[in-house]
Amino acid sequence: MKKDLRPREEKKAAVIHDGIERITLSFYKYVKIADPVALQHELVQRFGSLGCFGRIYVAHEGINAQMNVPKANWDQFDAFMRNTPEFVGIPYKFAVEEGKIPSFYKLTIKVRPKIVADGLDDASFDVTNTGEYLTAREMNEYVNNPDAIVVDMRNAYESEIGHFVGAICPNVDTFREELALAPKILAEHKGKKVALYCTGGIRCEKASAWLRHNGFADVKHLKGGVIDYKHQVEREGLPNKFKGSNFVFDERLGERIGNEVISYCHLCHTNKTDKYYHCQNEVCHVLFLGCEACLKKKYGYCSYWCLVFDRLPEAWKKKYVCWYNANRKPTHFKKTKLRASWTIKELKP
Ligand SMILES: [Zn+2]
Ligand SMILES: [Zn+2]
Repeated sequence: MKKDLRPREEKKAAVIHDGIERITLSFYKYVKIADPVALQHELVQRFGSLGCFGRIYVAHEGINAQMNVPKANWDQFDAFMRNTPEFVGIPYKFAVEEGKIPSFYKLTIKVRPKIVADGLDDASFDVTNTGEYLTAREMNEYVNNPDAIVVDMRNAYESEIGHFVGAICPNVDTFREELALAPKILAEHKGKKVALYCTGGIRCEKASAWLRHNGFADVKHLKGGVIDYKHQVEREGLPNKFKGSNFVFDERLGERIGNEVISYCHLCHTNKTDKYYHCQNEVCHVLFLGCEACLKKKYGYCSYWCLVFDRLPEAWKKKYVCWYNANRKPTHFKKTKLRASWTIKELKP
């Protein structure tokens, strides 16, 4: 397949206006894949020809996919999945809501050393010693049980907009950090029953094995994560113990689980919102929760600083970024992703 070289905004607009109904889903499986590169090529060809979009990671240890499939091609997609030996029995997790904008507008399939970046040395512990699964009903019992703890295995920006009632939500930016911290943070609860959860369940597979390895005897995890919890709660008429929104890793950035908004705007800290935005200033690009009033006032930037910066002449911006790269002083751009074309090298004659 030919590489699509159109700019990001153009690609996105094309998908928004194509009128094609899409089904957003995610799935993962820890399964031995002998030749990830060959599988990558096959998936690019297959999913590409079906008009699928999404982000898929393939590794020797398995596959992890978040994607959408045109409704009209669903049967072909499903038949391919069922006829591929590695994917047999893989459970699909369907999005709770499709949203106004498409979940993905391009197809990215990558070969990675691992399907989730966890920073663990898999040879140092038994990764197959995972905890048992919990159903939504059982999860609710854990939430109500004072002798049990419920632990959010996601990052702080995910748990901020939604989490289980009373859950322990570590203040971390990555799963890697979370795994490193978890045994210490949870040490005081070692005698208790532990229930883990994440978005779709994949992170808990590793996390439960890791905690068991670290001496937590009774560790279980929510099957299918928050996404499947929502479906089970609706199907079985169970009380919803997950408050707020579920952060999702696509253009939608979040899907409502209940009707409650529990988080506040990062700019005014007054208005409630569960909508994440990336700062309009490409150099900053920070993820922030924004209310409508603040977005209007700051034109979609995270701050006036970024609003002004983005209006500087390109040469000045480059200079600033070069200075930043050279000095690495703590500035406003704490988690900056610098434009490749703005590296110091490029400026040298
Ligand atoms: Zn605000
Ligand atoms: Zn910004």
